[in-house]
Amino acid sequence: MADDSYRTREYSGGCQCGAVRFHVTALKGNPHLCHCRMCQKAVGNLFAALIGVEAGNLTWTRGTPATFRSSGHVDRGFCGRCGTPLYYRNLEGTGYGVTIGAFDDPGQLPILFEMGLEGRHPSLAPLTQAQQLGTTVEADGAEAVEDIARSNNQHPDHDTSDWTPHMSSVRGAGTASTPSTPRFATGRRPPGSSSRWRTRSR
Ligand SMILES: [Zn+2]
Repeated sequence: MADDSYRTREYSGGCQCGAVRFHVTALKGNPHLCHCRMCQKAVGNLFAALIGVEAGNLTWTRGTPATFRSSGHVDRGFCGRCGTPLYYRNLEGTGYGVTIGAFDDPGQLPILFEMGLEGRHPSLAPLTQAQQLGTTVEADGAEAVEDIARSNNQHPDHDTSDWTPHMSSVRGAGTASTPSTPRFATGRRPPGSSSRWRTRSR
């Protein structure tokens, strides 16, 4: 039996700027990488690393995420200030797939599964210890995939001369769910030297 003690430990995490923080008290046993094209876009990376958390086991301890409804079935949560992707949420489900990279110590979590393999970047090899769950169609079924395609709000993978983002699908971005003047850990930001300040805080 694999060691699943990671599931019953408590964890905190949050976005890059610190406007949104979370705490979880229990985890599902599904820490995985999803390589599907929609997860790639949602995190601006080659895959999304996610772990399931039941809603009752997740508390937003500072701020609340903004959301983008990437399709009729899925919300993507992110920090409305700095943009850090924070979760995937199936609207028919009871929980969240929280981004593992947003945890304070991602190394405490294993990666046990890989899916969405149709989108895996050709330079990436399968993780040796992760079970391969196949393509999105293989993992979720063709019907679910067609359903998502029908209600997809994601820009196609080519330039478009006209495009109206589905802004009604975006909630909370740019609005203050936290005090309008965020305080930073250093408490001081050198006037007129934001670039210097940034190199210290990245
Ligand atoms: Zn942030």
